[in-house]
Amino acid sequence: MNKFPPFPQDKARLGLLGVAFDENSSYKRGPALAPQKIREAFFCDSSNLWTENETFIGVDGIFADIGDISPGQADMPIETEHAASQLHKAGLKVIAFGGDHSVTYPLVKAAAKFHPALSILHFDAHPDLYDNFENNPYSHASPFARIMESGLAKRLVQVGIRTINGHQREQADRFGVEVLTMHNWRDVFNIHFDSPLYITFDMDCLDPAFAPGISHREPGGLSTREALSVIQSLRANIVAADLVEFNPAQDPSSITEMVCAKIFKEIVARMLA
Ligand code: MN
Ligand code: MN
Repeated sequence: MNKFPPFPQDKARLGLLGVAFDENSSYKRGPALAPQKIREAFFCDSSNLWTENETFIGVDGIFADIGDISPGQADMPIETEHAASQLHKAGLKVIAFGGDHSVTYPLVKAAAKFHPALSILHFDAHPDLYDNFENNPYSHASPFARIMESGLAKRLVQVGIRTINGHQREQADRFGVEVLTMHNWRDVFNIHFDSPLYITFDMDCLDPAFAPGISHREPGGLSTREALSVIQSLRANIVAADLVEFNPAQDPSSITEMVCAKIFKEIVARMLA
């Protein structure tokens, strides 16, 4: 397999959606370029299609790929929610990739329609809980404020956080968010979820030494190994995931695209387990 089989497939378990969108980025643009780069890295001959738990994912019967959407700012929420909903409706678990973090609000909306009492595990350097950042309440700095206000998640657990400020601490307390900061990073292993789980993975949760291809380089993050270990130690029914904030324009060495593909593969392994 050198590309994902197209949606629909009679027998598939995971629906894929690329979101080429970065207009809600507050600092640098670039995550719209991510879906294509992640696809190339996934199938790059420098690695293979086996996961670390020794599952071969290069066979038919796993993926159904609806392709990449590249909506404008006004259409992004509705187009993203619609594409993800089609995959959920077909009974698939959903993995979306690419885009800035604002795409997660419509993706979670779609998941919550099909999986009530959703829990969310959020990897990020940033809590993304701003009530309104620079006069855009739908920017990549606010998706979890919108999600919690809308009652879309019964539980939100954040890991990798190392930029929380007074306002976002108030927001976290208001919404009952469980913030596991890097200050206490050892708490992140063996997190248990008793309801359907959505994983949202902002690539800047990782230390920029491991993944420099991001818009906001915040030192002191998780290593790639630590993030993989958190994913691999999860005991949960993972029904959907996204991989966001990879910025290929900041990734001249192409290191980060391979990290994206690795995280993607290990999330796939947990979703299939
Ligand atoms: Mn984020
Ligand atoms: Mn972030």
